[in-house]
Amino acid sequence: MAEEKKKASALDGAVMTAEGLSFKGVIMNAVVENCTGCDRIAEFDNVSYCPSYAQPAAKWSRGICNFATHVKGTLDKQGKAKVNPLKASKRAARGR
Ligand code: SF4
Repeated sequence: MAEEKKKASALDGAVMTAEGLSFKGVIMNAVVENCTGCDRIAEFDNVSYCPSYAQPAAKWSRGICNFATHVKGTLDKQGKAKVNPLKASKRAARGR
């Protein structure tokens, strides 16, 4: 009988320790609300983590996460997403 192929998780090798989830020697923090929708999110014990960045909250504290797959651009002073109008115009012209 053929064995079912398991999809490799981005958090393969992660271990839950007393301090938290340890992945490649780094303690991981759970993702934050801004991460919702990002393709990099991986689950471990029903908690979402980011294999690309151990501290998602810190990644978002100075603007949009540069690893994010769901948001592009920067944040303005009110914390709202701001897109470079020139780049947006070129993107629109290319149909993306
Ligand atoms: S890449 Fe950025 S936005 Fe995506 S899960 Fe990680 S910290 Fe969150």
